[in-house]
Amino acid sequence: MKRLVTTTVMAASLSALTLTGCSSTTGTGAVGVDRQQLLLVSSEQVLQLSAQSYAKTIQEARAKRVLDTNTAQLNRLKNIANRLVGQVGVYRPDAAKWQWEVHTIKSNELNAFVLPGGKIMFYSGIIDRLNLTDDEIAAIMGHEMSHALREHSRERLSRQYATQTGIGVAASIFGLSQGQADLANVAGDLGLSRPHSRTQEAEADQIGLELMARAGYNPQAAVTLWQKMQRASQGEPPEFLSTHPASSNRIANLQSLMPKVMPLYQKARR
Ligand SMILES: [Zn+2]
Repeated sequence: MKRLVTTTVMAASLSALTLTGCSSTTGTGAVGVDRQQLLLVSSEQVLQLSAQSYAKTIQEARAKRVLDTNTAQLNRLKNIANRLVGQVGVYRPDAAKWQWEVHTIKSNELNAFVLPGGKIMFYSGIIDRLNLTDDEIAAIMGHEMSHALREHSRERLSRQYATQTGIGVAASIFGLSQGQADLANVAGDLGLSRPHSRTQEAEADQIGLELMARAGYNPQAAVTLWQKMQRASQGEPPEFLSTHPASSNRIANLQSLMPKVMPLYQKARR
């Protein structure tokens, strides 16, 4: 993470938060994601929170002896991540140089996430219990990586910052100079683990589909993945689905994008 700043610098930079207005974090790619985003909080501030949050999760998992316990599974995920990261330049060239990281947690939970800046975490439960193929894992990972590429968490924090109540909240986060753990807790609270908006979800689906297709993973697997998710949600709703509802609307949208991404997949397979 090349642009990390120290906590002190970050706290000091609160006063430097300025209205940078609207811009878009990514290019449009083949599927055509083009939406202006409100970005008031800097990337550096979000990356700082993300790095601390990821480090804390890793530390806790290691303490419980559930971190990266299955080397074969970890390597499988790393291979998939590498192939997807090889394609991120289509959307934003700088992301090819991010310090992408992959870890696993041994847990029954159906969960996976990518934090801002490309910090990937998969719970073994989602892979084992849904019996995911490599293509389906690529669908989840591509979706989550797309949230990071589009800086959706930064956008959400910016929106909170822009609201009256958000100003106090943002000041308290970015003004914190002590207690990294506190900061990481706030990060978890403040959106790194909250549901994304429907617009953001649709964007992550779109971009994720293109990334997987270009990396040579069959985009149709995104449909079978969400069908599996839908079936899994009939019992106790899995953690992943609380932030990513597997609606039939989502599946229909994915299907409607197939004509755009299947040629990319076929080209990648040749
Ligand atoms: Zn999502």
